[in-house]
Amino acid sequence: MKRNTSFSQRHIFAKPIPKNDIYSVHRKSHRRFNKAIPQSWIDAAEAKGFALIDRVDNRYNLLLLCRQCGDLLIRPRNVVVDHRPECHSCIRLRRSKAAFAVGAELLSPHPNQTQYGYFRLSCGHIVARQYHRVERAAAGGHQLGCDACREQRYEQQAAKFGWNLIGDASSGKQGYRQYRHSCGHQQDVSVGNMFWGDTMCAGCGTGPTAQPSFIYLFQIDLPNLPVLKLGYSARPEKRLRQQLGIDGGIPTEILRTIAMPTGHEARAEEEACHRVLKAEAPELIVPKATFGDQINTQSEIYHAAAVIRIHALLDQIEAKRG
Ligand SMILES: [Zn+2]
Ligand SMILES: [Zn+2]
Ligand SMILES: [Zn+2]
Repeated sequence: MKRNTSFSQRHIFAKPIPKNDIYSVHRKSHRRFNKAIPQSWIDAAEAKGFALIDRVDNRYNLLLLCRQCGDLLIRPRNVVVDHRPECHSCIRLRRSKAAFAVGAELLSPHPNQTQYGYFRLSCGHIVARQYHRVERAAAGGHQLGCDACREQRYEQQAAKFGWNLIGDASSGKQGYRQYRHSCGHQQDVSVGNMFWGDTMCAGCGTGPTAQPSFIYLFQIDLPNLPVLKLGYSARPEKRLRQQLGIDGGIPTEILRTIAMPTGHEARAEEEACHRVLKAEAPELIVPKATFGDQINTQSEIYHAAAVIRIHALLDQIEAKRG
């Protein structure tokens, strides 16, 4: 439906009065109400973007033509005079455009929730969404996220660690889902923990998290720039040799590792160290721009001078663990 023509006044009033005094509006018949139309009503309609065509049905109803899209509509006189009539065709067009802008297609209104419509997302899933949220996403230049696709990603990630996604958490807690372990036991796990496989099965006592993780401190002697990397990994050697993309000719060394019972705890402690260093000694941080592509990471790189400080922080973690 593409009607952007502006309809001229002359065109409207050249239109003959309909046969048998019946107008057809959206496939419904409306009888002409043959009474004079005050000029003030015509002016009010015009000021709001509508041509007043006639009075219909009874003394209250007016037949309007939307000057924006050319559609016909019937609205009570007081809405036209005292308020602002809304053209449903224009609203639908506006919503369709917003849907298109966020990579979706507006299919139909929701049958009983007026604020909702059905949309087909770019992935093919059909979802009910509030119109205003779609329009806000379009205004912000965002895409519409797909819940079904997101749950599929959660499912795939859990499967890597031997868990099946069942659905919403039995507690109803946000950010949690219910999963079934390969042993048959079901439990709620936070989505964030499952992403890392950081969960212990309460049924059989095993799980990927039974494997320890390590906080590590590496020394990497870049040309003219000896640096340290502080991080955590289940396999620090592999991390240093393979994942950081460091040139084979560059001397590297694992200065220290601390075994942690889970990756979750390793990450929490490691992140706490970064926070302390950032707050207390930001000058020890080597910015990405300085080490560039020589190390395949965004951050967590420190000047060699930070070594004493980092060891002290790692001492604290070991002391805490006893
Ligand atoms: Zn319109
Ligand atoms: Zn989807
Ligand atoms: Zn289990």
